[in-house]
Amino acid sequence: MKDGASIWSHRAPADNSWYWRKLNAIKVQMQNWYSQGRYILAQNGDYSITKSYLAIIGQQPRMKTAELVWTSMALPKHHFITWLAVQGRLLTLERKLKLHIQLDDTDCCLCDGKVMESNEHLFEKCVWVKALENNGIKQALEGIKTKHWKKGKKETIVAICGAILCHVWQARN
Ligand SMILES: [Zn+2]
Repeated sequence: MKDGASIWSHRAPADNSWYWRKLNAIKVQMQNWYSQGRYILAQNGDYSITKSYLAIIGQQPRMKTAELVWTSMALPKHHFITWLAVQGRLLTLERKLKLHIQLDDTDCCLCDGKVMESNEHLFEKCVWVKALENNGIKQALEGIKTKHWKKGKKETIVAICGAILCHVWQARN
């Protein structure tokens, strides 16, 4: 941005960083929350962080398997990586490509498959995760959810799956 330019009229050029372009896109969305200087997401016109946050993230479907991931059986760092993997939100090379981040090579560095490193490849198809080769973590969790096992057994198995995911992710890093 040039000195003295208004943030509200600034348009981020396509060659700016992904983060700056994303912030500018949110800014444009925020402008729609005001009508004649009045905040319209709350009936009383008072600004609300909660209402703004919900407007930014939009409608989020509730994940039925969340309670299996966030348990005391797994290590905290395993919770987080498992949670991102289930949603396909780990920053894999495929995801970086979609975010227009410049990359030299997109092949999986764990195997010789000459396959793009994606969430699907790392956790479903790569030779490293043949132990989870059924149908991947998402389907594995949904399958575990439908089993008539005791809660402790379900949580233990999901914690093991989470540990496998985490070690694959660590090896990849
Ligand atoms: Zn691989």
